[in-house]
Amino acid sequence: MKSITDMSVSDVQKVQAILFDLDGTFVSGDVIKSEAYNKLEKLRNSGIKTIAVTGRPAGWCDLIARWWPVDAVVGENGAFFYKKVNKKIIRETYHPLDSLSKYQNKLNSLFDKISKKYDSLTLASDQPFRNWDIAIDIAEESNVDIDIALDILKICESEGARAAISNIHINIWFGDYNKEMMSLKVLKEYGLGKSEAIYIGDSPNDSPMFGYFPLSVGVNSVTKYEEIISNLPKYVTNKDGSDGFMELVDFIFSTK
Ligand SMILES: [Mg+2]
Repeated sequence: MKSITDMSVSDVQKVQAILFDLDGTFVSGDVIKSEAYNKLEKLRNSGIKTIAVTGRPAGWCDLIARWWPVDAVVGENGAFFYKKVNKKIIRETYHPLDSLSKYQNKLNSLFDKISKKYDSLTLASDQPFRNWDIAIDIAEESNVDIDIALDILKICESEGARAAISNIHINIWFGDYNKEMMSLKVLKEYGLGKSEAIYIGDSPNDSPMFGYFPLSVGVNSVTKYEEIISNLPKYVTNKDGSDGFMELVDFIFSTK
């Protein structure tokens, strides 16, 4: 991984969209820093599309799309994107909306199976606001060993489900979708491709995005996961969490 200051200035000048992870990247230390929010607002005002990409639930994404200075939000690891057009929230989902209740039953029986092996697991506290996935809490309000988390990934795989570990949750879902597919769909809405975008994240669940986007950046804490992450970001910031996010935004502005 190279320092972000090694990015080619002409590549950065071509950037018309920034896709950014929330937990551990835009939000760190439990709160959104006013400085980070302010940088996001400035980015958007400068004409760069701002697209949040997260494993967080539909309910939260609804608010983000409605009120934050973002053009769109990809949520629940790519199950949908929401964007605001005039005063309306446009909702694009991978699975048809009328399949939701049947789909949720399938997820619940998979969680029952996992709980039989590991009975102390708890669902994330934001589970009630989720539509298309189950989130097991590993480090937000509980503490689950990484070996158990990796074993849960294997169980999910054997049940035909997909799963990803973030810095706080294991997200589990069914369906051939992912964050990079849904992100590309959003970019297309704006007539952009992946080489006109930059992605910034912090942990193993960002690995496919790091592999997918030619300009991929990790905040410094990504180095903790070097052993277990398949695609490392090409560039890394000096600072952690939202300070790393701000460092990248400052670098983008410095090339203008
Ligand atoms: Mg994260």
